[in-house]
Amino acid sequence: MHGLMMDYQLTMDRILEHANRMFPHKQITTLQPDGSRHRYNYAEAYTRIKRLAKALVNLGIQPGDRVGTFAWNNYQHFELYFAIPGAGAVCHTLNIRLFPEQLAYIVDHAEDQIVFIEASLLPLYERIAHQISCVKHYVLINAPRTIETRLRNVLHYEDLLADADEDFAWRSTDERMAMGMCYTSGTTGNPKGALYSHRSMYLHTIGENQAAALGIVESDVVLPVVPQFHAMAWGLPYACAMSGADLVMPGMHLQPAPLARLIAEERVTVAGGVPTIWMGLYQELKQNPRDLSSLRALVVGGSAMPRSLIEAYERELGVNVLHAWGMTELSPLGTVSILQKHHQNLSDKEKWDVKARQGYAIAGVEMRIVDDSGRELPWDNKSVGELQVRGPWIIRQYFKREHSEDQFTADGWFRTGDVCTIDPYGYMTITDRTKDLVKSGGEWISSVELENAIMGHPDVLEAAVIAIPDDRWLERPLAVVVARPGATLAQEQLRTYLQDKIAKFWMPDHFVFVPEIPKTSVGKFSKTTLRQMYGEGRLSA
Ligand code: ADP
Repeated sequence: MHGLMMDYQLTMDRILEHANRMFPHKQITTLQPDGSRHRYNYAEAYTRIKRLAKALVNLGIQPGDRVGTFAWNNYQHFELYFAIPGAGAVCHTLNIRLFPEQLAYIVDHAEDQIVFIEASLLPLYERIAHQISCVKHYVLINAPRTIETRLRNVLHYEDLLADADEDFAWRSTDERMAMGMCYTSGTTGNPKGALYSHRSMYLHTIGENQAAALGIVESDVVLPVVPQFHAMAWGLPYACAMSGADLVMPGMHLQPAPLARLIAEERVTVAGGVPTIWMGLYQELKQNPRDLSSLRALVVGGSAMPRSLIEAYERELGVNVLHAWGMTELSPLGTVSILQKHHQNLSDKEKWDVKARQGYAIAGVEMRIVDDSGRELPWDNKSVGELQVRGPWIIRQYFKREHSEDQFTADGWFRTGDVCTIDPYGYMTITDRTKDLVKSGGEWISSVELENAIMGHPDVLEAAVIAIPDDRWLERPLAVVVARPGATLAQEQLRTYLQDKIAKFWMPDHFVFVPEIPKTSVGKFSKTTLRQMYGEGRLSA
């Protein structure tokens, strides 16, 4: 027998309608490119979003079409977050840090019909434009009238809005319609798209707003430093609209000094970003102290937050750190490390140990750890296995990759590629990862791709890349290289060679030359041995 409750579709326009009805006066503040602050409220945002959705339809956008965004965190990007799904289309956020080849690949693979581009990022986009044929219109955000561009079919954001009215009925009529898309780096090959539905994002927003998760409420002022092109800014814009929290957008100003000012002056209560951002902010605050008393949670994820930095924030600055783990494939929130009742009697030092762990699964996310043969392991804080998850906001297939099943188990779980332990209370700790990637400042570098690029040099016989710890970026790639017999190779030659073949931040800081790379029994590079050698100081540059 089925229940007799309404079949109410969980679509994102309903979150926006709620914001407009319940919290029309609440503020969205943006730090503009010129350093001034743009302020308006949810009611004004609502009207503009309706116009924007209508404008998209006027431009010919059909249900299911992908619309790209290439922009910083600002009010226009917030509008796009609702207008594109509201028009029945898919908001495809393009990561500005990708290497041009990969960027061109994802615009093309997603078949974006329109791309919205922030003026300051136009030169970056123009470099790939000639490789793209699917885009029918470009819309420039924050662009002066006099701007010159090689792109064709270019419109200005404000003109587009001015030409449309707000008499528009949402086209997101079915909660299973796709609403957003983010590509994430694979170990090898091209990035893969996670395609969110209205239902999955609606439920993720509720999940994130649980008191046992981020618990964002009306009285919060939220600063997403995590970019909107990175896992939907961790869902924070949606979480704010649902709860009526004020939103503060940093625009392009991600340097420590403007962030510190923004937090202090806007009385931010929740700020979200990767550890590298908070490391920079900490250094800044040591030099130029600010009043951070408004902050109730410094949310950090994307990479492990170092225990020392948690302690520094909590002990020296009195800021509560909320460490979270997530993945693009999880929309992205999976776990949070919030202390529970059983931690009450711990010393401060022990509490920081707990906070340095990745934490418990929020309701809506199920976890398990398994060994190499797929056998489930106990939650005893000792058994180490691969983390697998399932739930209503977790991916079941990548976009246009029907046969990439290696990340999904036969019984319906997603394989995260993270390796961890779980304690009897469900606190998860990541100890390693199976994916051969380096995470530098919150962005991925594929070791395998980098190795292939280095091995393209005619004088290189073999090259292996491992992640090594770094104070600022948390991880950096170290290239271990074997030169061809008779060849003399220097770091500089490899640097020059790689310059136009990889993204700038992929460039290894050091190349170490060795006579041979240790191999496993099946002849693969033994990265475990290399990491061990590095740890013992046997691989210094
Ligand atoms: P995001 O960086 O937004 O979390 P990605 O999909 O780019 O999303 O990266 C997800 C991966 O990042 C995880 O599988 C894990 O390896 C790593 N990661 C994310 N959060 C943490 C964390 N708190 N601690 C350690 N690793 C993390």
